[in-house]
Amino acid sequence: MDYYETLGVPRNATKDEIKKAFRQLARKYHPDVNKEEGAEEKFKELGRAYETLMDDQKRELYDRYGEDGLKNAGYNTNSFDFDFGDLGDIFSSFFGGGMSGFSSRPNPNAPQRGADLRLDIQIDFLEAAFGVEKEIKFDHLEPCEECSGSGLDKNATDTVCPTCHGQGRVQQSTRTPLGSFTSVTVCPTCHGSGKNPKAACKKCKGIGAIEKEKVLKIKIPHGVTMGSKIRLANEGDAGKNGGRAGDLYVVLHVKESKEFIREGYDIYTKLNITVPQAVLGDTLSVNTIHGQKEINIPQGIQSGEKIALKDYGVPHLGSNSQKGTHYVTIIVDTPKKLSDREEKLYRELFELSKTKKEESLLDKVKATLKK
Ligand SMILES: [Zn+2]
Ligand SMILES: [Zn+2]
Repeated sequence: MDYYETLGVPRNATKDEIKKAFRQLARKYHPDVNKEEGAEEKFKELGRAYETLMDDQKRELYDRYGEDGLKNAGYNTNSFDFDFGDLGDIFSSFFGGGMSGFSSRPNPNAPQRGADLRLDIQIDFLEAAFGVEKEIKFDHLEPCEECSGSGLDKNATDTVCPTCHGQGRVQQSTRTPLGSFTSVTVCPTCHGSGKNPKAACKKCKGIGAIEKEKVLKIKIPHGVTMGSKIRLANEGDAGKNGGRAGDLYVVLHVKESKEFIREGYDIYTKLNITVPQAVLGDTLSVNTIHGQKEINIPQGIQSGEKIALKDYGVPHLGSNSQKGTHYVTIIVDTPKKLSDREEKLYRELFELSKTKKEESLLDKVKATLKK
């Protein structure tokens, strides 16, 4: 097979073109939708072609040496296990959108809800903390204007499938040595739609819907986190036969911050201080997600101790008043280089601490003798 032919794109096709071609064909041949013989194999071929042509390295190998080139480079050309991440929107429409389960829906003309879609977007750390308005772009199926979603040509007269008379399925008898079996299968003429393929709307090819790009402004609330989902009702794929549209789920990916670590609604940072600051205490300014904040370092603080700044964390999702806590972990820096004067002072301290130790030792001896 030729990957370009499989996808019906020219050899110099851009990734966008490849993606678009794949989306269209994958919708058509997905095993959940298309029960025709060979559809599953075709779907797998599409997957292989797509996987290869979307990967620059694999595409170059394939362009030069064909499938053998890929095999020789250690790629398994028989597998179909590419990353669904980028295509989540298409596949969720198959797996989550009620397109499977054909057998439980005997009437092909019953209203059918459109598929739910998923869109992944990235936002900044502070945008997640405080909320933001974003413009999103996505593809979804909109009802075809030409046929008002019916999938039928306006001028067509014979609209009912002549093979199945609108049932979408046909009975088939199979003779075997054990007897004759009757099975019900999807109508080969209309593929289950019950509509005459000859009466199909020219614009949407009988699907009743057309894939269109939509741009929307959405409000992301404060306090969201990695993986948070925002549901936009009725922004998924158009329904069929008057069924309502599916929903669009926007899944958020939050970029990390160089400065802040977030756990839930709490923020963690580190603050390095000197030995004298630790011993005597000080007032210092730290950066919080709400701006600069002065904090008091108490006398005698230990390295590793945390100072809690209540309400300086992330505003809780869905609350207008509650906020997390910002924890500042104190790190006491031991100086590595000393000036002459510093060295002299530290020496004095050193001697002093020795005397202190001897004194306390002497006290202990005295105490023991008393017993
Ligand atoms: Zn149409
Ligand atoms: Zn039919």
